[in-house]
Amino acid sequence: MLLRHTPKEISERSALTINPAKTCQPIGAMYAALGIHGCLPHSHGSQGCCAYHRSTLTRHYKEPVSAGTSSFTEGASVFGGQANMMQAINNIFTVYDPEIIAAHTTCLSETIGDDLKQVRKKAIEEGKLPKGKYMISAATPSYVGSHVTGFSSMVKAMTDLAENTGKKNGKINIIPGWVEPADMEEIKRLTTLVGVKSILFPDTSGVLNGPLSGEYKMFPDGGTTIAELKSTGDSIGTIALGEWCSAEAARELDKLHKVPCKVLDMPFGLKATDRFIDALRTVAGVTVPDEIALERGQLVDLISDMHQYFYQKKVALVGDPDQLIAMTEFLVSIDMCPVHVVTGTPGKKFERRIKEITKDMPYEVNVKAKGDMFLLHQWIKNEPVDLLIGNTYCKYIARDEDIPFVRWGFPILDRQGHQYFPTVGYKGGLRLLEKILGVLLDRKDRDSPEQSFELVL
Ligand code: SF4
Repeated sequence: MLLRHTPKEISERSALTINPAKTCQPIGAMYAALGIHGCLPHSHGSQGCCAYHRSTLTRHYKEPVSAGTSSFTEGASVFGGQANMMQAINNIFTVYDPEIIAAHTTCLSETIGDDLKQVRKKAIEEGKLPKGKYMISAATPSYVGSHVTGFSSMVKAMTDLAENTGKKNGKINIIPGWVEPADMEEIKRLTTLVGVKSILFPDTSGVLNGPLSGEYKMFPDGGTTIAELKSTGDSIGTIALGEWCSAEAARELDKLHKVPCKVLDMPFGLKATDRFIDALRTVAGVTVPDEIALERGQLVDLISDMHQYFYQKKVALVGDPDQLIAMTEFLVSIDMCPVHVVTGTPGKKFERRIKEITKDMPYEVNVKAKGDMFLLHQWIKNEPVDLLIGNTYCKYIARDEDIPFVRWGFPILDRQGHQYFPTVGYKGGLRLLEKILGVLLDRKDRDSPEQSFELVL
């Protein structure tokens, strides 16, 4: 009942965000960094920022997240944080001995003007960065961008490690974007099934969905190794999944090491997965393996069996651009009607893509980049929907407006499963539809009068 005050009348707002549909840049940078094996993410700012970023990731992934902090106090805030960072580098390698530190800035250190690349240079000159150890960095001030741009910047920073030996390794780089650890596993499974040798980076599978073994590992077994990251410069190509999360890194590899890249949508739903599989198949020079054709057929079968329940259902969506683009296309392809689409990440090209995907619908979709959940709620009040898809924060809108709700995206703070069950690929498409059908049919059961309360649906 917390959002009952949201008014139906929409007034123009230009300098006020209410209930943001995004979170801060360093959270994305930290998540990406955890996808490198043996990496300790480092937050160059105050302890409070670091604690917030770690706890947000822990609440979503239900795993401990370790990270260092430069622990800014008043002195660092006034005179700059270089001394703190130098001390941190020394302490981290002495006490925790990671393979690599992936450092990101925060609002405060960016405002001061700290330059982490220059600090790294100084650390090397002063012998604080041990031989065979690495440090990469990303500028992630949170007064611009979002967790998505923070993720993208840290993935791009990983390309600093790429080397070009002049000898191709016969592999394809796959940049999966900000997807769940289970999605990264699924992307690797599909790639292997098609017969493509790949380097997936970052890779949080085995890091943020690991087992409880009784043995504490400061650095879990998963993650892209440094050797693999170095080898990305020798790969024969890169497939970047998602314009917002992955394209920058792919283009950087192309620029620096002439590794040609292809940017695709994230493989959520039928069509985007088809494009991903086709790109892999083309690289491998093979036909689609039977196992994958079977999975696709199962997804098509479920769509056709249950089409009557999807048909013309109105949907409101909130989340991150790459995910929303693929999901909107998926919903349109099964005859659902996305009517309101909001992301907190800036970028007008997002609005253009959503309009393009929905151009044949008999209505004009409400779409906003750099929007917020308050606006989404107002849109829903003006044009009610049958289904809401988004992160946990949507539960307030779902409760107030009594809308069936599917949790999908980041963060999910009050449910389990997202780390373990993929929603990418054809099998992931089955899971998405199972979740959507589950809430739609629960609602149908709840609202059916006794004479039409059916056993079989
Ligand atoms: S100060 Fe900036 S970086 Fe730190 S938690 Fe707040 S928004 Fe994020």
